[in-house]
Amino acid sequence: MTEKLFYRDPYLRETRAKVLHVEKLGDRVRLLLDRTIFYPEGGGQPSDRGFIEGNGFRVLVDRVYGKDKIWHEGKLEGRFPEKGDEVRLTLDWEWRYENMRAHTGQHILSAVIKGLLGADTTGFQIFPEHGKIEIDYPGELSWELVNEIERKTNEIIWGDVEVEVEVYEELPGELSERLRKPLSEKVKPPIRIVKIGTVDVTPCGGTHVRSTREVGVLKVLNFYRKSRKLWRIEFATGNRALRALNEILKDYWGSLEEMPNKNRPLRERVIELRSELEKLEEEKSKLRRELWRWKAEALIKNARKIDGVRVITLVEEWPMKDAQAFAIYLVEHNPGTVVLIAGENYVVFAKSEKLDVSMRSLLRAVLAEVGGGGGGSDNLAKGGGFRVSPREVLDIAVKKLGELL
Ligand SMILES: [Zn+2]
Repeated sequence: MTEKLFYRDPYLRETRAKVLHVEKLGDRVRLLLDRTIFYPEGGGQPSDRGFIEGNGFRVLVDRVYGKDKIWHEGKLEGRFPEKGDEVRLTLDWEWRYENMRAHTGQHILSAVIKGLLGADTTGFQIFPEHGKIEIDYPGELSWELVNEIERKTNEIIWGDVEVEVEVYEELPGELSERLRKPLSEKVKPPIRIVKIGTVDVTPCGGTHVRSTREVGVLKVLNFYRKSRKLWRIEFATGNRALRALNEILKDYWGSLEEMPNKNRPLRERVIELRSELEKLEEEKSKLRRELWRWKAEALIKNARKIDGVRVITLVEEWPMKDAQAFAIYLVEHNPGTVVLIAGENYVVFAKSEKLDVSMRSLLRAVLAEVGGGGGGSDNLAKGGGFRVSPREVLDIAVKKLGELL
């Protein structure tokens, strides 16, 4: 059994303890102590970080876990610790304090949501830079509604409401009725009840600040529907809220700086740019049609004839998708034509609808000589992965086409 000093005083950043047990885990160790200020992971709050120092060694603690026996795990520097060693414990206080702020903020946020929407909080997790809750709410959430929730939450935070923790073997009926949510059967005595004035009464095993004022600020960062009934709300408190906002502002100003028109708001500039892009796409496709028309005319003029069929061959640097579009354009506008296009490691074969020759059969005959793979229909076939140059593939294709016609 480890004495949990973090419950007696969550503001204790340093203390002394005695090693009860040590285990080696590769280049890491885990220590069992007679008492600790390190909060073990649980209830949505991550475990504490910090270090444990003894005579001749230091453990950089990054994981703490367990219920009655609390293990402190981390990298070992110096000699191997022994049972009975006296140690000094030091918390990574900025980490713990921000977790306390986030945890207390979450109680207030969940209470406000319960009051405004009647929705229960069904999940809660603190991450290194933000927290998230899940609420059971089948209705719609909007930024307007979320901002109202946020405003009320911060009003309570700034109201300097005392946060009290009481421990009960059995809950008084009067208190049971004030709980935000009926007590789960999983909760076994002693029951820790966290009371925030008249705002919230809820059982909780985490660590909290003494007054709501210490939360600083709670900012909702995002919300989205997670399933038909559940919404996820992401938020940040204290310094983490500032860091999150700075991150967003950096992105905002950085994006605006990249814009051709740097006037705010960014959203309008993005819409402008998108419509500009659509216009350019339209112009590009017009120009391409124009180019195709001229190119087709020249190709038709110089096409060879095999058994009365017009055969066009072309080596192109276009991507295959564009070559295919051009091939289809050519055969659709010129009856009695076969088009053979080869690019960087691909071929596209196309023919006019009524011609009695199969492009799939032609491709198969060509692949048999040059390797590679592909497939298609009688009218259009595509292949790639050959051992020879585009020009050579076309020469072979013309020869095979002659045999098929
Ligand atoms: Zn809590």
